[in-house]
Amino acid sequence: MKNKPANKIQDLQYFGEFGGVNPSISDSATYTFLSAKTMLDTFEGQGEGCYLYSRHTSPSNLYLGEALAAMEFTETANVASSGMGAITTTLLHFCGAGDHIVSSRTIYGGTYAFLKNFAPRFNVNTCFVNITKLEEVEAAINKHTKVIYCEAVSNPLLEVADIKGLAALAKKHNLKLLVDNTFSPMIISPIKLGADVVLHSLTKFINGTNDTMGGAACGSQELINAMRSVIDGSAMLLGPTLDSVRASSILKNMRTLHIRIKQHSKNASYLAERFEQLGLKTVYPGLASHPSHELFKSMMNEEYGFGGLLTIDVGSLAKANELMEMMQQENLGYLAVSLGFYKTLFSAPGSSTSSEIPEDEQAEMGLTDGLIRFSIGLDNDIKRTFQTMTACMKKLSIV
Ligand SMILES: *Cc1c(COP(=O)(O)O)cnc(C)c1O
Repeated sequence: MKNKPANKIQDLQYFGEFGGVNPSISDSATYTFLSAKTMLDTFEGQGEGCYLYSRHTSPSNLYLGEALAAMEFTETANVASSGMGAITTTLLHFCGAGDHIVSSRTIYGGTYAFLKNFAPRFNVNTCFVNITKLEEVEAAINKHTKVIYCEAVSNPLLEVADIKGLAALAKKHNLKLLVDNTFSPMIISPIKLGADVVLHSLTKFINGTNDTMGGAACGSQELINAMRSVIDGSAMLLGPTLDSVRASSILKNMRTLHIRIKQHSKNASYLAERFEQLGLKTVYPGLASHPSHELFKSMMNEEYGFGGLLTIDVGSLAKANELMEMMQQENLGYLAVSLGFYKTLFSAPGSSTSSEIPEDEQAEMGLTDGLIRFSIGLDNDIKRTFQTMTACMKKLSIV
């Protein structure tokens, strides 16, 4: 029981300065030292329990980091001001000039653009592969490879990474396996399957209220200390630090993550099954028709379901746009990027979140024009939602 990710968050007890049931917010950018000697030790990384300057870390950020580490079964975690802030600093920690990355080709558009267009400026080059084919992943590894990068459940095609298989490859070739778990917090625990580092955009499910950006890298104490080093730490020197007030609000929201994930999954599963019955091309890891349904089942922490994301293909971008506008008018959700909100969000990834990926590459990976990505909300009456959605689709002759 103790070992469940949600319990590990619920059981964490941090009291506030005055006995508050929530930890106090550290409202300071800098910190005093009782003696000059302590300041020197802290700069040299030996001042246990002392704070230096909030770009390095702050009490509020440490509390949130510990909660994320508990959820992901890592020693600790470093929080950042966005998912990209966490992802890029972690990649730049492991890779320098001349190094090579093997990455899934179906990843978040921003991560793809970073690896494809930005990292090469530092002579860090990436080979993009079909992550569901382990032999293709292994064939892409060369003597300069340092990292295998993937998303547990990929954006936007909902491909599922065989984390155990990838971890075995990483071990065999002495590489680090970095897994972005933004789509499946609580549901999948990549560390238990052999991953080295788990990355998150806290902006999505973990915070859940679309009021702030945030990110995290969960890993060993050694890794996080190195990323925070004042001498050469990527997080410390590039500086995508999360503000303490936001760290505190994200931590409070995280306490209800397990309940929200269950409801997102329940609603998404309901809709996916019925969309498929209507004859729509539906992708959802919980459907038996999903190519990695069995793999997903073998990796999941059962009670949290198959997640809140699903895609349907309505044939063309024009139809997708018409349907999304109509669903928004019916107040079924919002035409917006992002995910993990209480309200359903939908967007056509080809022309939005994955538009960084050139059209020919989109086609190759199966990212079609008529694809709509849904992040299903916390609707209390999903049956009614389904009925209204179906009515919209009938009006537009989609079903
Ligand atoms: C949104 C997202 C990111 C980037 O996170 P930000 O908080 O927007 O910087 C990275 N990976 C995935 C899978 C995402 O959905």
